[in-house]
Amino acid sequence: MLGKLETVFSYMAHFMLLSWPEKRPGILFLTDSAGILVSFMEMQVGQSWNPNKLCLQAGNKLIDEPHSPVSQALRTGEISVQKSGDGDLVWGAFPLKEHDGRIRAVIGMVAPQQEIEFELASYMRGLEALIRMGYDAYIQHATSDIIMKLNRHESTKDLLECLIHQIAEIIQKGSVSAVKLTEVGTLIVPEYFTTQAVDGKGCHITQLAARFAGVPLTPAVEDGYRTVILPITCEGRPLYALFLHLSPEERETYDERDVAFLQEVGEKASYALKRTMVADDLRRDASKKDLLYQLMTKIQASIDVNEVLNEIISSIRSLYPHAVVDLFLTVETNATTPVKPLSFQDEDCSTSTRAYLEGSLVMDYEERDGVTVAVLAAPLLGKQGIYGVLQLTTDRTVFLSPHETEYISILAETAGKAFENAQLYQQSRNLIRELRLINEMARQLNRSLNLQEILDFVTKMLLETFSTEFCAILRKEQGKETFEVISSSHPECQGRIIQAGEKPISEILSSKQALLLVQPGSGPLSFSLLPCSSVTPIASLMGVPLVVEGELGGVLIVADSRHHFFSFDDYKLLEIFGQHASLAMTNAMLHNEVERMVITDNLTGLYTRRYLNERVRASLEKDGFGSLILMDIDYFKVVNDTYGHQVGDEVLIQVANQIKSHIRESDIPARWGGEELAVYLPRVDKLTAQAIAERIRSFVEKETSPKVTISCGLAKWSKERNSDISVESLFYQADIALYEAKNKGRNQVILA
Ligand code: GH3
Ligand code: MG
Ligand code: MG
Repeated sequence: MLGKLETVFSYMAHFMLLSWPEKRPGILFLTDSAGILVSFMEMQVGQSWNPNKLCLQAGNKLIDEPHSPVSQALRTGEISVQKSGDGDLVWGAFPLKEHDGRIRAVIGMVAPQQEIEFELASYMRGLEALIRMGYDAYIQHATSDIIMKLNRHESTKDLLECLIHQIAEIIQKGSVSAVKLTEVGTLIVPEYFTTQAVDGKGCHITQLAARFAGVPLTPAVEDGYRTVILPITCEGRPLYALFLHLSPEERETYDERDVAFLQEVGEKASYALKRTMVADDLRRDASKKDLLYQLMTKIQASIDVNEVLNEIISSIRSLYPHAVVDLFLTVETNATTPVKPLSFQDEDCSTSTRAYLEGSLVMDYEERDGVTVAVLAAPLLGKQGIYGVLQLTTDRTVFLSPHETEYISILAETAGKAFENAQLYQQSRNLIRELRLINEMARQLNRSLNLQEILDFVTKMLLETFSTEFCAILRKEQGKETFEVISSSHPECQGRIIQAGEKPISEILSSKQALLLVQPGSGPLSFSLLPCSSVTPIASLMGVPLVVEGELGGVLIVADSRHHFFSFDDYKLLEIFGQHASLAMTNAMLHNEVERMVITDNLTGLYTRRYLNERVRASLEKDGFGSLILMDIDYFKVVNDTYGHQVGDEVLIQVANQIKSHIRESDIPARWGGEELAVYLPRVDKLTAQAIAERIRSFVEKETSPKVTISCGLAKWSKERNSDISVESLFYQADIALYEAKNKGRNQVILA
């Protein structure tokens, strides 16, 4: 029997009172199956009859009464009528039976004997039909009450919550659940409502789901009336399935009346349910459009790739709360969003990879840890390409209609375009940054023709631009297969010689292109150039060849201990950097050469007279003292006359070489004019200078062929003695001494 006892009783009482003769006192009452008084009422309308000895009160145990027909009825299951001991009251009891014969309650009545001229027992027998009518009325009323309540709800969630609780209240045992159905009537497990308190052991829905997975549901009674299943359909379309379920602890079972009631309610509720589902769809559609619009506006306004990605993921998560949303990208981003790289290595090509390769939405099932899941993958399509894949993974029972998948496609496409825009913007910003940098570099590099300054500048720019730990500029040694480090972020590397055959130099040379090396996972790069002791091992390296007029002139290297430190943009920038650096370095080197040529005598390789004059003048200003040796080849005319001018030139070169090899780096040898040569020795005193002159003289005499000799005139100066001496007067003094040497017989050194 359904319903709360008192409520059902009130419906039955209504019919019974109608049949009770007018103006007859009496009390109608109800006890539960233990004979305990639950409820009672007067049968004579408007009159009160309650004799003292009756003393009826809810909670009284009526089977304790000495002449209780209630205990009789409970025992026999039959109508029982008895008079009270003193004979002035008559009692009747009518057992209300369950489907299986168990007695659920007793309806009873008591009236004064003298007022009842009819036989109560036969009257009570006639009540049976009325009681059934009352019960039916209750069910009818309860059902329409439920439907009325359902109609108040706008959303499917509210409606189903109301429905299952109402059913539970009437059926009064077990739990009631509603689970969404697919178009073909199979369960969509994640979408359910239940009256069962979900405890640590979980919910029976999960067990039911496993039992009925993939099977279109039909109305059924299972487990010996412990599980009742009723799919609600509307115009042939499955909507939700209702489940009545008894836990093992509950001893009762459901019965035909429960099933019939469920069927009745399910059928009547179907239209209301359909209405809320359609309304939900409409609302969802509206909110989807709203979301798409919001997303578009946000995306249009945003030029930040990261922001775009976050926006897409969060809006999809809010729309599909049961799905796992993943984003796979094929392009490099420094996104903070959890983004996964798309793998092409899977042997059985994943759904996402397929969506990427096919450029269209793919829906399929995949096995994940032994569970079958539904995967929907939509490519992020831009105008210029595909940037990745948006992936939704759901329980395989969740059914996505073509309507939904189309929407996800649109979202992914929007995302692709936005991503592309943001990327283009980022690229153009990078480009601007690069152009600025190149501009600045070109400007700075063009400002100087000094090689050292340029090397210092390039080193500094490399460190700053790439924020890297190590950089070096290597110059190819002429005619050799080696490179010299001419500048580095680590001074200890300067001057190091690297073999051209060593990796990665050899790789840069063979490809004649910039090189980007990354070594994820494996050990650090081994390369003798890298200062292995002073910094952490190197994991990323870029190198670019410096090409000067088609010839390899050197290599630029930047390196860092962090993995994947350099991006592709960095690599492109380094290439440009290399071009500018090699140009600037070539210019500086050419300029050096021109400068050298200007101050160098062509024939002898000694400095020119003008340069000597400048250096002597500078020395007179800044040094404390110095010496000047003037030399003239003896009888040079004779050499010319005897062997010809050609040989004369060669002899002149021999003498010049002798001078070069007997002086120090800081001394300045020069061709003074014709066959007259000079050496200025800054901060060298007279005696040392004399020894040097003497050494040169004797070596010239010994080493020249055809043999010549030289005469030398030596002049010296010091701040104390000749504070305002001029270049001219120093030369004049030396010239006088030279003249004296000639006069004294040549091949000798004379001091001024
Ligand atoms: P001395 O100096 O000992 O008095 O005799 P000398 O023969 O060297 O006489 P002088 O210094 O007057 O002559 C210089 C000669 O050197 C004249 C010139 O033909 C020759 N001469 C000067 N410059 C060059 C040169 O660049 N190459 C050659 N082959 N000869 C030169
Ligand atoms: Mg001369
Ligand atoms: Mg001479």
